Amino acid sequence: MRGFGMRSVNDVGWLEKERPACGPLDAIIRPTIIAPCSSDVHVAHGGSGPRTDRILGHEAVGIVDEVGEHVHRFKPGDLVAVPCVTPNWLSRGVQNFRSFSHDRGPFGSFKLVGQKDGVMAEYFHVNQADPNLAFIPDDVAPEAALMTVDMMSTGFHGVELADIGFGERVVVIGIGPVGLMSIASAALRGASQIIAVGTRPKAIEVAFEYGASTVISYKSGPLDQQVWDLTEGKGAHKVVVAGGDAETFAEAVRMTRPNGVIANVNFLDINDHIAIAPLDWGLGMSDKDIRGSFCPGGGKRIQRLIHMIEYHRIDPTKLITHRFHGFDQIPAAFQLMEDKSPDLIKPVVYID
Ligand code: NDP
Ligand code: ZN
Repeated sequence: MRGFGMRSVNDVGWLEKERPACGPLDAIIRPTIIAPCSSDVHVAHGGSGPRTDRILGHEAVGIVDEVGEHVHRFKPGDLVAVPCVTPNWLSRGVQNFRSFSHDRGPFGSFKLVGQKDGVMAEYFHVNQADPNLAFIPDDVAPEAALMTVDMMSTGFHGVELADIGFGERVVVIGIGPVGLMSIASAALRGASQIIAVGTRPKAIEVAFEYGASTVISYKSGPLDQQVWDLTEGKGAHKVVVAGGDAETFAEAVRMTRPNGVIANVNFLDINDHIAIAPLDWGLGMSDKDIRGSFCPGGGKRIQRLIHMIEYHRIDPTKLITHRFHGFDQIPAAFQLMEDKSPDLIKPVVYID
C-alpha cells in the first residue's frame, strides 16, 4: 500500500509499505478524512529525534476494515474516530499517570507515528480497538469528529491541566487550532477575561468567535508586560501554553500571579533550554504551579468530546480553513501546514 511519510529527517514523500497486520484485539482502518498536524511537521524535521521510513499522520476518521477475533464493540463497516493517543490499557503504566499518555515510558501511548506508521496511508493499524475507538453518530459531521481526536483533546487538556474555574483570568498563548480549542474550553469552563496570543488574521477572527476577550501579539513587546497591563497589575490566574518557544515559556511564568498555574501542551524543541529567573518564580516559593502534559488517550474521552458536538456545546469545524479531496492531495495539505499561510488554521484531506 501507499503512504505519505518521512524517508528520513527533512525528507518527506510517498512510501511503499505492506498493509499492516491485525492482532486479536486490534483493528485495521481505512481512513476517509485525515488532517496533518503541526506535530507531524515537527517530527518530519527531526524535532522528536531521528526517524526513517515512517508514515506520518495521527488524526483520522475512517471505516473499520478488519477487526481481531477479540474485538466486540466494533465491526467492519463502522465509521469511527481514532484518538491520536491509543494507550495499551493492559500496561501497568496507564494506572500510574493522570493522562494515560505514558503507558510504557514517556509518550508510550502515542503509537501512531511515535512507534509505528501513521494514518496518512491507505490503511492503518489501531491497537486495542474496543477501548481505543469512538463511534461517530449520524448527526455529527465526520469532519467535526475529526477535530476531536487531537485538536479538541489537546486544547481542552490545556484547560483541564490548568484547572480553570469560574471567573478566572486566563491567558492562552498560541491561537493555532490547539490554542483556539483551549480558548473555547476556557469559555465553557467559565473563565472571565481570556487574553489570547497570536498574529494570523484568520486565527484572530476565530479566537474572538470562540470567546477571547482580547488578542495580543508576541511581536509587540514582552507578553508578560502586556498581560500585567491588561489585567491592571493583577496577572493571570491561569496560563495555557499552546505556542511559542522556551522564552515564551519564561514569559508565561512571569505573567502568572502567585497560586496560579502554567499549563503547557506545546512541544518544546529538543535543543531548547528554559531560563526562569528565580524572582519570576517567587524565589521558588510563590506556589506558581508549572505543569506540562500530553493529551490523554482512549476512545471514551473522544466519545465524550463527540457528544459535546452532538449537543451543540461547540462547533470545532470553525478550525477547518482548507479542504482537499483525494489521497494524492496529502502532500499538498502537508506542505500547507509547513508554510503556515496567514489564512490557515487547519487543513483536512477527504480521501474520496
Ligand atoms: P500552530 O503552529 O498552528 O500555532 C502556534 C501558535 O503559537 C500561533 O498562534 C503562533 O502565532 C503562536 N506563536 C508563535 N511564536 C510565538 C511566540 N514567540 N510567542 C507566543 N506565541 C507564538 O500550532 P498548533 O495549534 O497546531 O499546536 C500548538 C502546539 O501544541 C504545537 O507545539 C504542537 O506541536 C503542540 N501539540 C501538542 C499536543 C499534545 O498533546 N501536547 C498535540 C498536538 C499539538 P501566529 O498567529 O503568529 O502564527
Ligand atoms: Zn497532533
